Amino acid sequence: MIKWLKRLFAKEKPIEVIKPKRTFNFVKPKRFVNKVFIHCIASDNLNHNSIDIIEQWHIKRGFNEIGYHHFIDFYGDIFEGRSLEKTPASQKNFNRDTISTCLFGLKNFNEDQFDMLRAYCYSINRAYNGKVSFHGHCEVDKNKTCPVFDYKKVLNLDEKGFIISEI
Ligand SMILES: [Zn+2]
Repeated sequence: MIKWLKRLFAKEKPIEVIKPKRTFNFVKPKRFVNKVFIHCIASDNLNHNSIDIIEQWHIKRGFNEIGYHHFIDFYGDIFEGRSLEKTPASQKNFNRDTISTCLFGLKNFNEDQFDMLRAYCYSINRAYNGKVSFHGHCEVDKNKTCPVFDYKKVLNLDEKGFIISEI
């Protein structure tokens, strides 16, 4: 957000930067997977824009390592967390056979993050020939709004969480 504000108040015209579309090369783990869960860190504080901070939070909660497989930060960069070969610890009672990823943010998500999320999810979807479905954490925990943003729209999902077509 700091970057955007600077642009808003700068007298000069903002320089247009053409960013190449994000890519992600997903490699299937050996364990069975049929669902992907999407989370957010529930904070817009840029001091929390780090996979190490999230791992510290999870260790404080009693995990031995970060619960998510990947983290997409404020800038749309992706970081590896828990090994894909291991079951995640992120959706209580619904971790088995899943992959979980988490985005930085609570209310302020941006297109750089969504672009990375699409590259990530579409790469997974191709690897499983369209047989994995994509879900928000809120679908399995009614007390949560996680991941807060409209992930169904961002990923172009049908009502069962399958990708209709890549955007
Ligand atoms: Zn969550």
